[in-house]
Amino acid sequence: MFNHLKDSAVKKCLELKSTLTPNRIDLLDLMIEIGKPLSAYEIKEVIKNKGNDLNISTIYRVMEFWCKNGTIHKITSLNKYTTCSNPEEIHLHIVNVCTNCDELSETCNKRMGLDFKKGSKSLGLSISPNSHIEIPVICMECQ
Ligand SMILES: [Zn+2]
Ligand SMILES: [Zn+2]
Repeated sequence: MFNHLKDSAVKKCLELKSTLTPNRIDLLDLMIEIGKPLSAYEIKEVIKNKGNDLNISTIYRVMEFWCKNGTIHKITSLNKYTTCSNPEEIHLHIVNVCTNCDELSETCNKRMGLDFKKGSKSLGLSISPNSHIEIPVICMECQ
């Protein structure tokens, strides 16, 4: 399977000299194919239905790899993983999570008029690389 997210993920792996193991590729393909947030156990179920059985700790490890790589975001409030909708985004990724229907919409700090870099710098802190921020919102549908 080839798409924009995978293209950028592979590029980042080459830059960082990370190895693309079959499990890493399979799980990324799966997340792209499913196209919605999934928990580690949901991922395990989907893989199982495809005739492959992966250890839950392997799934966590692979997902952690893709999160660090900036290709997948772990949505802490839902305890689910989602593919990044704009991997080339140079600003801080912001994932808005509807607290009513769990709908996600991704944007960046710039488009939201937020300057976390400046704000944290004034406290002597810096934003951790390849991280994102979750904002609890009520989506348009639910208002
Ligand atoms: Zn993102
Ligand atoms: Zn909603």
